[in-house]
Amino acid sequence: MVNIVVFLVWCFTIGAVLGSTYSTLVYRLHTHQSVISRSKCDNCNHVIAFYELVPIVSYTLLRGRCRYCNTTIENTTLKYEIVCACITLGIGLICLRVL
Ligand SMILES: [Zn+2]
Repeated sequence: MVNIVVFLVWCFTIGAVLGSTYSTLVYRLHTHQSVISRSKCDNCNHVIAFYELVPIVSYTLLRGRCRYCNTTIENTTLKYEIVCACITLGIGLICLRVL
């Protein structure tokens, strides 16, 4: 039972990371930014620390605002993270033959 829970949490986490990466790539390619540069706030250009880039968790803990300038962060990336996490969770459930 523990192995199944760990597997499903892993599926959800991998999906959130993939969604975050996909969202970031789409945003940067559309705005002609480098895809290998560090993430930074669009308003104050402050580089975002690695612990502020945890998918879903960081947005929730920061309440959708930049830690440095308190500007509202668009929730587009959060939506991608949640949708991709749910998709991979569904795939995980299918692999376990739960669905
Ligand atoms: Zn900022």
